[in-house]
Amino acid sequence: MDTVSKYFGANVFNDTIMKERLPHETYNMLQRTIKNGKHLELGLANVVANAMKDWAIEQGATHFTHWFQPMTGITAEKHDSFISPAFGGKVIMEFSGKELIQGEPDASSFPSGGLRATFEARGYTAWDATSYAFIKDNTLCIPTAFCSYGGHALDKKTPLLRSMQALSRQALRVVKLFGNEDVRFVETTVGAEQEYFLIDKSVFDKRKDLIYTGRTLFGAKPPKGQELDDHYFGAIKPRVLAFMKELDEELWKLGILAKTEHNEVAPAQHELAPIFTTTNIAADHNQLTMELMQKIAKKHNMVCLLHEKPFAGVNGSGKHNNWSLSTDTGVNLLNPGDTPAENAQFLLFICAVLKAVDDYQDLIRISVASASNDHRLGANEAPPAVVSIFLGTELSEILDAIEKDVPYGTKEKEMLRIGVHTLPKFPKDTTDRNRTSPFAFTGNKFEFRMLGSSASISDANVMINTSVAESLMQFADILEQSNDFEADLHKLIQDTIRQHKRIIFNGNGYDDRWVKEAEGRGLLNLKSTPDCLPYLLLEKNVKLFERHKVFSPEELRAQYDIQMESYCKIINIEALTLLNMVNKDILPAVSGFIKDLGEAYQQKKAMPFAADCSYEENLIRDLSDLSGRLYHQKLALEKAMESRSGFADVGEKARYFRDVIFASMNDIRIVVDEMEDKTRSSAWPYPTYGAILFSVK
Ligand code: ADP
Ligand code: MG
Repeated sequence: MDTVSKYFGANVFNDTIMKERLPHETYNMLQRTIKNGKHLELGLANVVANAMKDWAIEQGATHFTHWFQPMTGITAEKHDSFISPAFGGKVIMEFSGKELIQGEPDASSFPSGGLRATFEARGYTAWDATSYAFIKDNTLCIPTAFCSYGGHALDKKTPLLRSMQALSRQALRVVKLFGNEDVRFVETTVGAEQEYFLIDKSVFDKRKDLIYTGRTLFGAKPPKGQELDDHYFGAIKPRVLAFMKELDEELWKLGILAKTEHNEVAPAQHELAPIFTTTNIAADHNQLTMELMQKIAKKHNMVCLLHEKPFAGVNGSGKHNNWSLSTDTGVNLLNPGDTPAENAQFLLFICAVLKAVDDYQDLIRISVASASNDHRLGANEAPPAVVSIFLGTELSEILDAIEKDVPYGTKEKEMLRIGVHTLPKFPKDTTDRNRTSPFAFTGNKFEFRMLGSSASISDANVMINTSVAESLMQFADILEQSNDFEADLHKLIQDTIRQHKRIIFNGNGYDDRWVKEAEGRGLLNLKSTPDCLPYLLLEKNVKLFERHKVFSPEELRAQYDIQMESYCKIINIEALTLLNMVNKDILPAVSGFIKDLGEAYQQKKAMPFAADCSYEENLIRDLSDLSGRLYHQKLALEKAMESRSGFADVGEKARYFRDVIFASMNDIRIVVDEMEDKTRSSAWPYPTYGAILFSVK
C-alpha cells in the first residue's frame, strides 16, 4: 500500500474500524439502526461507546466532545475528558453509551431565535450516527444534532437531515414509478468547492479590520491587481504548496476526499475541491475543511481568509455546491441514461429541479444570504442576485422540442416521445462552459454557485432538497393516479417545461441586459439580505417546510430572526471597527503627515531663493480638505450609530443598518482611499492592498 492509502481515514471511526472492533452482532444492529434512522438503544450504545473509547485512546485521545453546528454557522465543541476517579487516587478512562448518544451542553449563548428562553438554557446534542466519529486534537469528536428540550432544531444539521429524508421519501415514489423496485432510498450528494485567500500573518496582524471583521474596510487599489489573470491556475508558490500538502494530509486522515488544489483568479486566492459524498457528511467535511485551513495556515505563518469579500475590487470567494441525487443502488438520477425509461426518468428529475428553483427562487436566494455574501451577489464578478438555471444548448434544445412537439436532431426526423424514444447523446463537456450561471447543469449534476465562502453549505442544501422534494411530490401525486403512464408523463414534462422555462437562461449572467430581461420574465432580484429574508415567512414557504417536516413555523420564524440579527451584528461590528480606525489611526496619521509637509513648506520658504512649494502647498490643501470631510462624515456615522438600537422590528433595524450605517461606511471608504493614495507610504498606518495581496512570496 502506498502511504496515503495507509493513513487515509486513520483518524475516523469508520465502517472498516467498526467492523474490526465491534462484535459481529453489535455491528449489524448498529448498521440497521443507522440505515433505518432509528433511535440507538442504550445497551447497543454502551458497546459501541466502549469500542470507540478504546480505539480513540490508542490514537492518543484523552477527551471527547459532542461536535455540533449551532445556527452561528460555525462548529462548537465542549471537551470532557475520559477520566473517571478510581480506587486509590487513580483514574480509569470511561465513556458510556449515554455519553455517546446524548449530551447537554450549557448552550444558553448560542442563537435560538427565541426557541429556547435563556433561563431554560438546556439544549441537548444527539449523535448523528450517519456521520462517523473522528479524532481531532486528541479529542474524540462525535458529530451531533443540537435541539432544544422542546425538540426544536437549534442547529444546521437537524434541518439538513430532515430535508434529505423529505427528498428521499418523494424521490423514492418517483423512481418506483419507473419500475426501480429494488431502490430503498435516494440520497443527495454534494461536492463543495471552497475558495479562500492566504496572506502573510505579519500584514494581517497590522489590520484591525481583518482581525475584527475578516475583510478590509479600506484600501486603495494597488498598481497591479488581477487584470493579467496570471495567478489563475498559475504555478503555486512553495509556501502555499507546503500549506496545501499539510492540509491534504490532515484532511485525508479525517477521511475527507480532498482532490484538487489550485490558484484562483485573484492574487493570493486559492481553491480546494473534494470528491462528492452524502450531503450531511459533505457539510460536516466542509466545516472541518474550513477549520483546518485556518489552523494550518497559522502554522505556516499565514492567515486563511474565508470572508466572501476580503478586498474591494478583487474577486471575492464563493463556494460551489455541486448537487445531485443518487439511489442506494448507485444510480445518479441526473445522469442521462441509455434506455427510453432511464431518459424519461432523467428528464423528469431535471423538470423537478426546474420547477423547484422557479417556484422557490426566494428560498434559493435566502439560502445564500448574509451580510458578507451581499458584497458578492450582484457585483460584477459573481452570480447576480437573480436566480436562474443554465442547461446548456443541447438539453435546452431537447426540452424545446418536447415542449413544442417538434422534431429534434438531424438524423431521425421523428418527434421525441418521452418513455418511447431514447434521448440523443449530448456531449458532457459542452454543458460546462457557462461560468456565469448561478445554477448550472454540468452533465450529471447541478452546480449552485451563489454560496458564500464562509457559509455552512447546510442552508443551501436544505432549500434545494425541500423544494425539489415538493416538485417530486406533486409529480408522484399525478403519475401514481395515471392510467396511461407514458402519455401522462409526456404531458407532465411538457407542462412543466411550459410553466417553468422562464427560469432557464443560457446566456451571460453577468451582463446587465440579463438583469433587465429577468425582470421582464418576472424573476426575483433580491439584492440584499434585508430584502430577501422576509420572503422566508411567506405562507407558501411556511406551508412547504411544514408539509415536508423540515421546519415548523416556529423554527422558521427563529431562522428569520437569527439571520436578520446576525446581519445587524456584522454591520455593527464593522462600523465600530471603522470608527476606531478612523479616529485612532487614520485621522491622526494624516494630520501627522500634513504637519511634516508644513515643516517642509516652512523650510522651503526660508530658503534664500524662491523654492517651488506647489507640492507641499497643494497636498496640504487636498489632505486638509479630505480630513475635514472625513471628520464630518465620521461624526455623522457616530450620530447614526446612536439610533441603531431603537427598533422593535428586526427587519426594520436591518434595513436601517443597510441604508444608513452601511451606506455611510461606503462613503467614508471613498474618502479614506483617496487619502491613502495621497499619503506618504511610511505615514500610512496600515499595510496597503499591494502589500497584503502579494505578501506571500
Ligand atoms: P467540473 O469539471 O464541472 O468542475 P468535476 O467532475 O471536476 O466537474 O467536479 C466538480 C465537483 O463536483 C467536485 O467536487 C466533484 O466531486 C463534484 N461532483 C461530481 N459528481 C457529483 C455528483 N454526482 N454529485 C455531487 N457532486 C458531484
Ligand atoms: Mg466549480
